[in-house]
Amino acid sequence: MTFDPREELAVIRKNLGDISFEDQRVLVTGGAGFLGSWMCDTLLTSGAQVLCIDNFASGQWSNIRHLADHERFCFIEHDISTPLPVDTPVDYVFHMASRASPFEFEHFPIQILKANTMGVLTALGIAKKYGANVLYTSTSEVYGNPSVVPTPESYYGNVNCVGPRGCYDEAKRCGEAYVVAYRRQHQLKTRIARIFNTYGPRIRMDGIYGRVIPRFIDQALNGEPLTVFGEGAQTRSFTYVTDQIEGLLRLAALDAAEGQVINIGNTNEITVLELAHRVIARTGSASAISFSPLPEDDPLRRNPDITKAREILGWSPRAALDYGLMRTIAWMKSQVE
Ligand code: UDP
Repeated sequence: MTFDPREELAVIRKNLGDISFEDQRVLVTGGAGFLGSWMCDTLLTSGAQVLCIDNFASGQWSNIRHLADHERFCFIEHDISTPLPVDTPVDYVFHMASRASPFEFEHFPIQILKANTMGVLTALGIAKKYGANVLYTSTSEVYGNPSVVPTPESYYGNVNCVGPRGCYDEAKRCGEAYVVAYRRQHQLKTRIARIFNTYGPRIRMDGIYGRVIPRFIDQALNGEPLTVFGEGAQTRSFTYVTDQIEGLLRLAALDAAEGQVINIGNTNEITVLELAHRVIARTGSASAISFSPLPEDDPLRRNPDITKAREILGWSPRAALDYGLMRTIAWMKSQVE
């Protein structure tokens, strides 16, 4: 299978139906990241003007290079955790900037905390100035290691604030609290997405920063053992990028979603060991599987309750894991070539 990102964009556009951002001015923080860059692409195809902010902490120029000459795209290299004067009105602020890989939690905990606290404040300040709608991309990590699975938005979480994931989990929880505070005190229109594990083309695949799917694919393509942590009995539910972007844009656009906190994730829960076998099968690799200790505080199960997304957004995931894996494998091969 060859890889052409226009296929992903066409799928998202089709699935969004008549949702449009025609003539809307949208500021996207983290716009050069994995999800941020797909967001910029999709918004542009929906007729929006996009102001993309990124400092390339984890975002990459290669994700947005193709947009550089687009007449409705503007890029500013900036660390959103420091003040950013924005002198042109915007209709939406999407705060998507943050490192998100567990390997980064160890090396960049302060940046992660800042992006989701001071960065959120910068984003909210811009939204307040122009009366813009806010979309904050939070995470399933606000639930920590949940005791209720499938996990609904009403679950308060089980988080170790001083553990290795504390910098991310607590920062996102604080970010949500800021968003709600601006909503209460300044009547901002806000939406919070709790994003569950998402994968697809443009996800980081470099070295230690890769999440489990690009890591396993990389290992399989290179004939190296797939590094399963623990016994691989921990579960995740993986959402393909087209589904995730559709869910986020429905949340941002629909009036019924105003003020809501909504899980956006797949409900198809599989173990990490099963995932390793799937990747080996889909790549046709002869790789073996190696086992090493489970990292501290690695959540044992993760699976969203998406009743709210179904009822309020009319959204549920459509892409099967095998399809998403094939597209991601094709993209990773194209990158190596
Ligand atoms: N994982 C693994 N081997 C790896 C990388 C990750 O077994 O080389 C496991 C990890 O322990 C976790 C799951 O895969 O249980 C998902 O990890 P990821 O880094 O993608 O993100 P997380 O869901 O933990 O935030």
